[in-house]
Amino acid sequence: MKFFIINSGSSSIKYQVIEQGTEAVLASGLVERIGEVCGRLKNTSFPGSSDALETVIEQPIPDHYSGMMLVIGVLTDKKHGVICHTSEIGAIGHRVVHGGEDFRASTLITPEVIGAIRRNIPLAPLHNPANLDGIRVAMEIFPEVPQVAVFDTAFHQTMPPRAFLYALPYDLYERDRVRRYGFHGTSHRFVAGECARLLGKPLAECNLITVHLGNGCSMTAIENGRSIDTSLGMTPLEGLVMGTRCGDIDPALHLFLKQNKGMDLESIDALLNKESGLKGLCGLNDMRDIHKAAAEGNVRARLAVEVQTYRNRKYIGAFMAVLGRVDGIVFTAGIGENDPIVRAESLKGLEVFGVRLDPDKNDQRAGEARCISTADSTVRVFVIPTNEELAIAREVATLVRP
Ligand code: ADP
Repeated sequence: MKFFIINSGSSSIKYQVIEQGTEAVLASGLVERIGEVCGRLKNTSFPGSSDALETVIEQPIPDHYSGMMLVIGVLTDKKHGVICHTSEIGAIGHRVVHGGEDFRASTLITPEVIGAIRRNIPLAPLHNPANLDGIRVAMEIFPEVPQVAVFDTAFHQTMPPRAFLYALPYDLYERDRVRRYGFHGTSHRFVAGECARLLGKPLAECNLITVHLGNGCSMTAIENGRSIDTSLGMTPLEGLVMGTRCGDIDPALHLFLKQNKGMDLESIDALLNKESGLKGLCGLNDMRDIHKAAAEGNVRARLAVEVQTYRNRKYIGAFMAVLGRVDGIVFTAGIGENDPIVRAESLKGLEVFGVRLDPDKNDQRAGEARCISTADSTVRVFVIPTNEELAIAREVATLVRP
């Protein structure tokens, strides 16, 4: 059976076709600039033993439906295609950002599920409508195929109230659902599962700290396989220092910015989401550029790395205190997988808590999951590549039987 994995954004559709069982990626691609003057589809197919075949199509793509039809045209194309007919797709997995408190796990999509995703739009006003567009279009094109929603928030629904409640009037939680939800759940869950395998014990017996450092960054405390705390909150702004997002700040800053700089809430929101984080500190948000600038003597680039890694360390320390026993710390995503400097600085000083990084192993470049701590480290440290699409495909496989 083949699974079609869809991550639908407001003007883009990211997708993969994955073979069940072998977990081979048969095709992957991105439709972007939907609704703009000129759209673009880039598809890479991996047909059998031959080399990867790339297709780029540039043409107006007015909506998600035409974008999806373009993808299906390429996937069934005689030369570049990986399926002969859409009937070969056995199930479709959709990434959905916000499941609110309605979903603790992935689920088959029904009209009730669509209703619940819609009810959660106020919690993710940009993402859930775009995810629903993808679901609607896929249901139109594949009416007979089971569709599964995999939520970014579901893994964190095991957090206890002491971790998910803000110290605000309780009414705001009960009536308006104001609480911490957390995100990147599919990634945290995936790398935790891979880590359990490397540790050689069931996930349900593992205490882990998973550190997802990409453009967006988050950290999760996992106790006996379940998320008990995470750094992102009601929205994906809280916690760690990210590419352009500030992470934790004093909530009174809004008032200061309004009173002293005459900013309105929308411009403050844009400042905190798009102009802050690493970019705010040094003008750059790609960690590779930041290291290069720091090496050339750019003091603020160096400072940006220090602010980010100091915040990482602070959260690791907090989550160690929350968990007590920690079996493993896992680094993942673009920075986590590729950046030995950030990993080393994020763990600096934690030797006293039994975290000992092996500098040679940390410096080695490899695309595979690996342990980078010394043999005598009581807390093992891992680099584990995340794979959200594969994680979604595995979720689909548990819900859809051939
Ligand atoms: P997203 O959160 O958008 O999925 P990724 O997980 O792909 O992002 O991470 C993107 C970030 O990873 C980039 O901004 C860049 O800073 C960082 N990155 C990618 N490759 C490297 C590298 N070799 N060294 C350091 N950082 C890297």
